[in-house]
Amino acid sequence: MQNYSIRKRILVTGGAGFLGSHLCERLLKEGQDVLCVDNFFTGTKDNIIHLIDNNHFEILRHDITFPLYVEVDEIYNLACPASPIHYQYDPVQTTKTSVHGAINMLGLAKRINAKIMQASTSEVYGDPQIHPQTEKYCGHVNPIGSRACYDEGKRCAETLFFDYHRQHNLRIKVARIFNTYGSRMHPNDGRVVSNFIVQALQNQPITVYGDGSQTRSFCYVDDLIEGFIRLMNTPDDFTGPVNLGNPGEFTILELAEKVIAMTHSSSQIEFKPLPGDDPKQRQPDITLAQQALNWTVKVKLEQGLEKTIAYFRQLLNKT
Ligand code: NAD
Ligand code: UDP
Ligand code: UDP
Repeated sequence: MQNYSIRKRILVTGGAGFLGSHLCERLLKEGQDVLCVDNFFTGTKDNIIHLIDNNHFEILRHDITFPLYVEVDEIYNLACPASPIHYQYDPVQTTKTSVHGAINMLGLAKRINAKIMQASTSEVYGDPQIHPQTEKYCGHVNPIGSRACYDEGKRCAETLFFDYHRQHNLRIKVARIFNTYGSRMHPNDGRVVSNFIVQALQNQPITVYGDGSQTRSFCYVDDLIEGFIRLMNTPDDFTGPVNLGNPGEFTILELAEKVIAMTHSSSQIEFKPLPGDDPKQRQPDITLAQQALNWTVKVKLEQGLEKTIAYFRQLLNKT
């Protein structure tokens, strides 16, 4: 159907989650019409409550493993639990969300000729054997491990995106997101940044899994959302996959020490067993994003942690 408004109509699946809520907010600020679709598995209305009075914002409770018939110009497909404890809670549903969800969103994009972006992940590289990871690296994933429902689901979703592109000429964009943090992460989400900050603010033990020598590279949410918008606006012949993340690499032990120092916490570090298939190191090579999107990261870990700590301090004081 013809869209007579100059606003773009944009569907954000997983819009009530951590990244989705920041994306909805940013798109509304840019003057777009936003449809947030979420089944509230890990997302919450609290993340988007401040957007509800905006007439250009709509929420639909819906599970993307079921078909969806709406009319939009662009789709950002973010729906999927991202934290290991949540995606391993119901692993079959996780694979369904990635695979059936991708098929439905691609079918929708095909019917209405919408541009569609997939929130893929650095997990497609698994426990990488090359460092840092470039987009050409095909990955090292255990197909039957406890992370496989997420990793292989996301890998299959990428396959579907590229096959819909080749077979049906769909305009696709694939972002491989590396560990991102910031406000609106769920306090019980289980991911390392939120866990450490919540533990430190409550002067509880900081749970470091393994010996803490494994590394991650942490991207602040605002930098990532800027990358999403730039990726969606690239010319149609640019599909990605493109890495989006902060190349600053830290050991988990370094992160724990930083969080303790920044929160002036009396927490002690407590070592716990390393979960199965936990990748030993991870760092994005962002050369492609720099060239194709003219994008780079602006927020250093300390600056991002400062803001995230302030967010959790306020949240914990409320409860
Ligand atoms: P999140 O768990 O906060 O958000 C996911 C959202 O999707 C939630 O609101 C959840 O309720 C919703 N959802 C889950 N299954 C659904 C379904 N079947 N139908 C409809 N909604 C569903 O996680 P996030 O960190 O905001 O991640 C968003 C996306 O980005 C995910 O696809 C994730 O895989 C990807 N990603 C995130 C990171 C990160 O560091 N945050 C890294 C790599 C990839
Ligand atoms: N689909 C949807 N919304 C639409 C169009 C399609 O959810 O507007 C779903 C539908 O469930 C379908 C899937 O997307 O099964 C894939 O659609 P496609 O047209 O690629 O394949 P087919 O309809 O032949 O299964
Ligand atoms: N981790 C940790 N303590 C925690 C939570 C996570 O040491 O309380 C470790 C985890 O084992 C992994 C890293 O921190 O090595 C990042 O974990 P997260 O779940 O945030 O993301 P992912 O493993 O998916 O990159």
